[in-house]
Amino acid sequence: MSGRGADNTNTSDVRSDRIVTNSNGQPINEPFATQRVGQHGPLLLQDFNLLDSLAHFNRERVPERNPHAHGSGAFGYFEVTDDITDVCGSAMFDTIGKRTRCLTRFSTVGGEKGSADSARDPRGFATKFYTEEGNLDWVYNNTPVFFIRDPSKFPHFIHTQKRNPQTNLKDANAAWDFWTTPENQVAIHQVMILFSDRGTPATYRNMNGYSGHTYKWSNKNGDWYYVQVHLITDQGIKNLTNEEATKMGGENPDHAQQDLFENIQSGNAPSWTVHIQTMTEEQAQKLSFSVFDLTKVWPHKDFPLRRVGKLVLNENPENYFAQIEQAAFAPSNTVPYQEASADPVLQARLFSYADAHRYRIGPNYHQVPVNCPYASKFFNPAIRDGPMTVNGNLGSEPNYLATSKPYQYIQKDKPIQQHQEVWNGPAVPFHWATSPGDGDFVQARELYKVLGRTPGEQQKLAHNIAVHVCSATKEIRERTYALFARVDEGLAEAIRSESEQCANNVAKSKF
Ligand code: NDP
Repeated sequence: MSGRGADNTNTSDVRSDRIVTNSNGQPINEPFATQRVGQHGPLLLQDFNLLDSLAHFNRERVPERNPHAHGSGAFGYFEVTDDITDVCGSAMFDTIGKRTRCLTRFSTVGGEKGSADSARDPRGFATKFYTEEGNLDWVYNNTPVFFIRDPSKFPHFIHTQKRNPQTNLKDANAAWDFWTTPENQVAIHQVMILFSDRGTPATYRNMNGYSGHTYKWSNKNGDWYYVQVHLITDQGIKNLTNEEATKMGGENPDHAQQDLFENIQSGNAPSWTVHIQTMTEEQAQKLSFSVFDLTKVWPHKDFPLRRVGKLVLNENPENYFAQIEQAAFAPSNTVPYQEASADPVLQARLFSYADAHRYRIGPNYHQVPVNCPYASKFFNPAIRDGPMTVNGNLGSEPNYLATSKPYQYIQKDKPIQQHQEVWNGPAVPFHWATSPGDGDFVQARELYKVLGRTPGEQQKLAHNIAVHVCSATKEIRERTYALFARVDEGLAEAIRSESEQCANNVAKSKF
């Protein structure tokens, strides 16, 4: 991928490409001289070099992402280690040993671009694969579940993680008010992961990635499966305690960026072993929860992990802004044989991610070199024009699919999947609030038992919640204890005891 545009930008045979110029290419002899009336009189409007520099400086930021503003990334490759062509016909999986170039961006979610790497937050784990069938984006997180399953709640939930509209401070009341609202109880599973020490990973290298969503993959015979993807870190899981994370946030807020860059620079390329879980439609019908429910995992014992390949990040970006800040990941970027399922949060993301990039970078964001599907060849006569068209714009091609021109289509080689789900029903408003019975707490209780396998983990969960919720109001604290009592009475008591003590100390310190 070259950042070069058309051939006429290559002037190296005419003059050195290190001669300093203005944006027009005109050499600048005195970069710090400004045109004035006399030596100490006012400046002149005709000084284009000064105006050029100041005007461009004012425009050198693109809007930061709303969630996932703060991030780090690196290039690398995906290598197939195991044959899964019975599950997926995508070209990237067609041969053992095949490598596909990729870019991964890690991020926190709620904080601004300059916030600390060590914040308690889920981590984004987004990978763009430059395949010969187009770019494929796996826009994943380091947790296997999420806080919501109604996409309409996304802006509301993210706002609770942002700043209070009046105080401009992070707001424990907003976070716990949202999580303890009965119709949001599906969040409990993810809240427990967030407040376990996995909520503060030691580095980006020491955490897993999960699709979280259910996808639909198919093979070349037309058989299809529900699929979840797991990227398991080869560096091992390593987390910070709440206190270590707080200290790190002050001492080195960019510690994860530094760790990633320096490890790759010194040849210690991090890697992840990629696995899938698969489920048939018949198995999905027998589940005790919906296969489209983003707040639930697929138990390993029923849906064992199957190894697919390895993701290796071995190449730092040359330029952070060009290659990481402008990188545009979207779950709608997919390839043949990998489809979205009907998971409603995934369906909404199919729209909102690409839309965010149109706003942030512009409608031709896919022409930015890091986003170009360079390994396949873009050709669509009707996708033309718009701001910053820099790819030649398909030259003299008609700007519609012209009957008089021969075009090639490859859909006919793809299977017609006759046995897909069939959707049928009236258009109805539906709020997917609580699950029947205690359905939203079953996996949260399982997780509490998993934490119990390692001495101290349950206690750390209680501590991490207590020191966060203690700055919320008494009413919201009580709602929080009641919520966790539905997971485990002992957990709720441990949170209450430390949180009330902490709240008293905070109250005393105010006088
Ligand atoms: P298992 O006993 O087979 O799996 C438990 C899994 O929990 C481990 O494999 C590990 O997943 C994960 N885990 C370990 N420690 C933590 C932690 N501190 N925070 C979060 N996850 C941790 O049981 P099940 O598959 O039946 O799952 C039981 C519970 O484990 C679930 O309710 C869920 O909360 C959690 N879990 C399950 C996952 C799944 O896909 N089944 C994935 C992650 C968590 P890993 O190897 O991915 O690190």
